[in-house]
Amino acid sequence: MTGNRVAIEIDHVCKRFGHDEHAVLALDSIALKIRENEFFTLLGPSGCGKTTLLRMIAGFEDVSGGDIRLYGESLSGKLPFQRPVNTVFQSYALFPHLTVEQNVAFGLEMRGFKQADIKPIVAEKLELVKLGGFARRRPHQLSGGQQQRVALARALAPSPKVLLLDESLSALDLKLRKEMQVELKRLQRETGITFVFVTHDQEEALTMSDRIAVMSAGKLQQVGSPEDIYDRPANRFVADFIGETSFLQGRVADGLLHFGQAGSLPGQVLDQSHEGAAALAVRPERLQLSTSGSGLAGVVSEVVYRGVDTVYTVQLADGQPCRVRSSNSAGAARLAREGDTVAITALPGAFHRLQEAD
Ligand code: ATP
Repeated sequence: MTGNRVAIEIDHVCKRFGHDEHAVLALDSIALKIRENEFFTLLGPSGCGKTTLLRMIAGFEDVSGGDIRLYGESLSGKLPFQRPVNTVFQSYALFPHLTVEQNVAFGLEMRGFKQADIKPIVAEKLELVKLGGFARRRPHQLSGGQQQRVALARALAPSPKVLLLDESLSALDLKLRKEMQVELKRLQRETGITFVFVTHDQEEALTMSDRIAVMSAGKLQQVGSPEDIYDRPANRFVADFIGETSFLQGRVADGLLHFGQAGSLPGQVLDQSHEGAAALAVRPERLQLSTSGSGLAGVVSEVVYRGVDTVYTVQLADGQPCRVRSSNSAGAARLAREGDTVAITALPGAFHRLQEAD
């Protein structure tokens, strides 16, 4: 359970790199609150500013405008080691000549912990990351996943209030990455430390996070739970970046959602009802396809078989392309082939109406 206390407040933070006409505005007035005990993710495409924001919380980068507060206290002017915050870097940054236990002890020694206290903390943290038997090894004698665990143990050793993780799973292969996602989540729950995790991988963000901040080009696009972000994207960018989406233009009238020559669907397929032209986003798994029956009329232009499911691209009769995903769970044969005439129906609330300004 996440607490209601605010651990970190990002208060209209700006970051400008360079001067004059060459200046880059990497962060444009970012305002958000990260709660205590939360697994919070900064998500966005490369260059959106997420690493810069993380580095500012850590104290590796100055704030150009606004303020960052930890439990109500401004971090301004505090050096990295004066902040109760620790970082796990993408590269792990382990010392190759030190053993695993020496690596984990290092941060404690730097912070002036007594030798007698260091040993039990190191042993406890190595147990926590399931590396109890590896204390005497050196980093080159470990797999990538094990090195990652050492980096985590080292970062957790001084019991920081906040742990910052910068793309920390991206160097691992897919299977190990999935294992470490579960592991990170467990560590966060067991330690109760607030985690701020940076990734460009939307699936990773949805899997792991209590809440997600979606960023684009230095601006905050949406903050919310994985369900909020996926089911109720605030705008076209979020709908497009997270998951698969078809964008369609429709018109609501007389309790129906009309798509010109393609026909219409009952009004309850829309998540809200007011009349008029509507910019719509729809997830392919919330649509269904049939070769007989009623629904929006169209012709299949592409079929992509993906094992677990099949994705059909359909050109609707009004000219708009729309994707439908069909699960292969029942071992179903293909529902349709390229060139087939089909009808599309939708689950209740499948169509999300985007704001007109998008
Ligand atoms: P990635 O996932 O590729 O690391 P990111 O979302 O973390 O991307 P940042 O690294 O925070 O993005 O960079 C945000 C913007 O600031 C980019 O346009 C980047 O080029 C610029 N930037 C970052 N650091 C500097 C710097 N030291 N000097 C000048 N510009 C910088």
